[in-house]
Amino acid sequence: MKAVRLHGERDLRYEDVPTPEPGPGEVLVRVRACGVCRTDFEVYTYRVMFYQTGMARVPITLCHEWSGEVVQVGADVKGFEAGDLVTGETGLGCLKCRLCLTGHHNICPDRIETGILNRDGAFAEFIAHPAMITHKFRDLSFEEAALAEPAACGVYAARRARITPADAVAVLGGGAIGQLAQQAARAFGARTTMLTSRSPEKLKLAEELGADAAVNARDQDVYEAAMDLTHGHGFDVVIEATGSISGFNDALRITTTRGRIALESVYERVPPGDIDDIVYRELDVFGCVGGPNVWDETLELMRRGAIRTAPLISRRLPLSRVQEALSAMEKGEPGIVKIVVEPP
Ligand SMILES: [Zn+2]
Ligand SMILES: [Zn+2]
Repeated sequence: MKAVRLHGERDLRYEDVPTPEPGPGEVLVRVRACGVCRTDFEVYTYRVMFYQTGMARVPITLCHEWSGEVVQVGADVKGFEAGDLVTGETGLGCLKCRLCLTGHHNICPDRIETGILNRDGAFAEFIAHPAMITHKFRDLSFEEAALAEPAACGVYAARRARITPADAVAVLGGGAIGQLAQQAARAFGARTTMLTSRSPEKLKLAEELGADAAVNARDQDVYEAAMDLTHGHGFDVVIEATGSISGFNDALRITTTRGRIALESVYERVPPGDIDDIVYRELDVFGCVGGPNVWDETLELMRRGAIRTAPLISRRLPLSRVQEALSAMEKGEPGIVKIVVEPP
C-alpha cells in the first residue's frame, strides 16, 4: 500500500509499504479521509519533545486524525465487523499504571500515540488500530468524522473547565482546536462565547459557528473587548489555543477572579505572565492532552450538528501531496484552518 512516512527530521516520503495485518485486539481499517494537524508539522520538524529526547522511533507513518471503514477484524476483538465506519483516538496507555487505571491513559508515561509516538498513523491506505480506542460513527461523512479527534480535544477542554450555562467563555486562537473548543463551550451551555484570532477568515468562521463575539487580536485590544462583553467582570473560563506568550498573558488578564484557564497549546518557553496573579486571584490553570473519555459525546454532538467540522476544511489534497500541506503551514498561509487528505 501507499503511505507517507517520516524517516528523520524533515525527511517525509510517499512510498510503498506492506499492508498491515490486524494483530490481536486490532481492527484493519481502509482509510478514507485524514486531517493534517499542526502536530504533524511539529513531528516532521522534530519540535516534539519525544523526538528531541530520542523516545520516538522512525520511520513512522504520520497522522492521528482519520476515518475509514473496517475491512478485517483481528483475534479477540468484540463489537466490530467488516463494514463498520470508524475513527479513532490517538493515545493508548500501558493499561497497568496508576494513571491508566484511573482513566488518564492520555498521559501515561508509557503510552503510544497513533501517528506521533511509536505507532503508525493513518497517512496510508490502511491502518491497523487497537479496537479499544476505535469508535464507530454514523450520519457523518468521512471528512467530518476524520476531524472527530480534534473535536474530542475541544470537548475535553470544555469538560476539564467544567463549563455550564453560568459561564462566559473566551477561546484564544482561531485554528481548528480553537474553533472546535468554541463550539464545545456552546454545546456545554456557555452563556457567552468570544473567540480571538489575527485572521479575518478565522474570525468570520467563528461567527458562522456560533461565537457571540469574534475579536481581531491584531487590531483590537483583547482586554478591552473582554471587559466590554462581560460588563467588566472578565471571563469565567478561558481556553488558550494560540500557543503564544501573548495568548497566555491575555488569558491571565481576561479571566475573572477564581476563573479557570484551560491550556490547549504547548509553549516553547515558560510563559512570563504574572504568576502571582494566579495565586492572589485563585485562578485554576490546567493543561489538556488529547481527548480521553469524551468520544461518545463528541461523536453525538457532531451527529446532531452541535459541533460542525466540515466548515473547518480549507483545502483538500491527495495523500501523495501531504508535503504541500506541511509547507502551507510553514509559510503560514492565511486563513487555512484544516487541510484534509484522501488516500488513493
Ligand atoms: Zn491533531
Ligand atoms: Zn499507563
